[in-house]
Amino acid sequence: MLHIGLTGGIGAGKSTVAAALIECGAHLIDADQISRDVLEPGTAGLAAVIEEFGPGILSADSSLDRPALARTVFGDDEALRRLNAVVHPLVRAETKARLADLPASAVVIHDVPLIVENELAPEYHLVLVVGASAATRTARLQRDRGMSVEQIRARMTAQADDAARARVADVWIDNDGARERAVAEVAALWRERIAPYAGNIAAQRGAERPERPELAAPPDPPRTWAVQAEAVLDRLRRAGGDLVRSADHIGSTAVPGLAAKDVLDLQIGVTDLAAADQLAGAFARAGFPRLDGHWYDSPKDGLAGPGTAWDKRFHANADPGRAVNLHVRVAGGPGWRYALLCRDWLRADDDARSRYQRLKQELAATTASTQEYAAAKEPWFDQTWPQIRAWAERTGWAPPPF
Ligand code: ADP
Repeated sequence: MLHIGLTGGIGAGKSTVAAALIECGAHLIDADQISRDVLEPGTAGLAAVIEEFGPGILSADSSLDRPALARTVFGDDEALRRLNAVVHPLVRAETKARLADLPASAVVIHDVPLIVENELAPEYHLVLVVGASAATRTARLQRDRGMSVEQIRARMTAQADDAARARVADVWIDNDGARERAVAEVAALWRERIAPYAGNIAAQRGAERPERPELAAPPDPPRTWAVQAEAVLDRLRRAGGDLVRSADHIGSTAVPGLAAKDVLDLQIGVTDLAAADQLAGAFARAGFPRLDGHWYDSPKDGLAGPGTAWDKRFHANADPGRAVNLHVRVAGGPGWRYALLCRDWLRADDDARSRYQRLKQELAATTASTQEYAAAKEPWFDQTWPQIRAWAERTGWAPPPF
């Protein structure tokens, strides 16, 4: 199942985009609606709230008197906590029940106004942000919802701003113009990214990759490779829980200033490969299926002799819009150390970085496939290993604690 978190400032067009996604075939989980449903007359939820706050929170027709309940908990943290303790588990259970009825290939939209404020992005496979300028949003809300400029301004200043939203946006949908334009953008996004992503997750397969290696310039802020990597690592940390001992951005995209293939290399450290195997299902559900085969790193003198110490597990991205190579290695092991050391050496040594950049450019121009490109880089790393090792000794390099 593919979970999409949809957010945006008030009046930007979340409902409009949600409707377009539903038109494409998505299912909407409306948290507001569910929290009303679990307190309908005759529900265990309503009975529990009456038990907690007394019959004074009921209207004459025995339904919940929402304003009365709001008055009861307003400004009273303890009362609000008691209310949440009743309602939140019911909402979670009801959400789970609704999700259980959907097929494995379903796309689920969660309308989450406070995704940025509450740091909820890691809970979703994709975060879609709908954006429109403050002036456009204000005009729409005045026109369609009869809100005053003061009311609108107060709501806007209480929310995160677009700069903060842009940082977490896997996809930014511009709804400043005509509705049809945004709807067409959503339809293309569905076709090119969302539908194949959901299909890949259900089939536990990686997304297709370009046949030829192409170097890309580092992306502009706020969605730099570092920011994107951290967002994916947050998803992996959440999916893997305590089995994840370390989570790092490695490889060329982790070296500022280096042009690289637009593929994020990420490293998850685990206690042993049995733990890596235990993680396979959770990572696959999170959008990173494990690839079959025997995966291992090329041994380097002085770290460990050739053998199983260099074994790892390898996962790739199901998302056609964000290529990721996910290396699951034993934390503290030779492959794990080498990846971090190499990154730190390239970050620190300007000359090494330029030499590596030239090699990458040459190979990208002369090799016919991504596989050939990756294989052709290996001898350079073998040759430079004595220099990397000397640098590590000279600087007293140590990997981050885990
Ligand atoms: P949100 O759910 O983000 O608060 P809505 O989707 O409800 O925003 O949109 C706010 C208002 O603006 C609605 O009345 C909607 O019909 C209208 N609207 C949304 N997108 C457009 C657009 N591109 N052009 C004109 N009006 C729009």
